[in-house]
Amino acid sequence: MSGYAIANPTYATILCLFILRVYAVKYRSIVARVERSGTRGKQRYNHESPAFRKLHAGYSLLEVTRLVKQHAPKHQLVPRSLNIKNQKSRWGSCGIHNDIQINALLIIAPPAVLEYVVVHELCHIQIRNHSPQFWALVADHLPDYKTPHHWLKQHGNRLMQGF
Ligand SMILES: [Zn+2]
Repeated sequence: MSGYAIANPTYATILCLFILRVYAVKYRSIVARVERSGTRGKQRYNHESPAFRKLHAGYSLLEVTRLVKQHAPKHQLVPRSLNIKNQKSRWGSCGIHNDIQINALLIIAPPAVLEYVVVHELCHIQIRNHSPQFWALVADHLPDYKTPHHWLKQHGNRLMQGF
């Protein structure tokens, strides 16, 4: 989390990030378990305390906001709203009025995967389909988008099971 920059952080944000730093070791071990064993890693995440999961939901909204601020200006891909939701069948969505929703489960995926899903949904603001033009726009933001895309294909189903 070093080098993490948030515009005008509040004391609550700073405290939240400090607590998350304490939790970072535990968090990384959950991600490693998801990659190794899928379901067992997710079950462990499910069994974490509500406070732990709330903290991660808060962290992911901060992180998603940061990623949007980072990628939006390049092609003026500005969403009307941003939400983190427990979705059972999709990683993200972009509504007709450009309301973007990101699956809360991505909190326990590698950071590059979260970034890829955010960029994917931002690009749908400009191109609604999955045409070659769409993927070119994604690649313009993330030249290595195929790696996180592949991670989701490989581990995504196991991560999503049971939610
Ligand atoms: Zn899409």
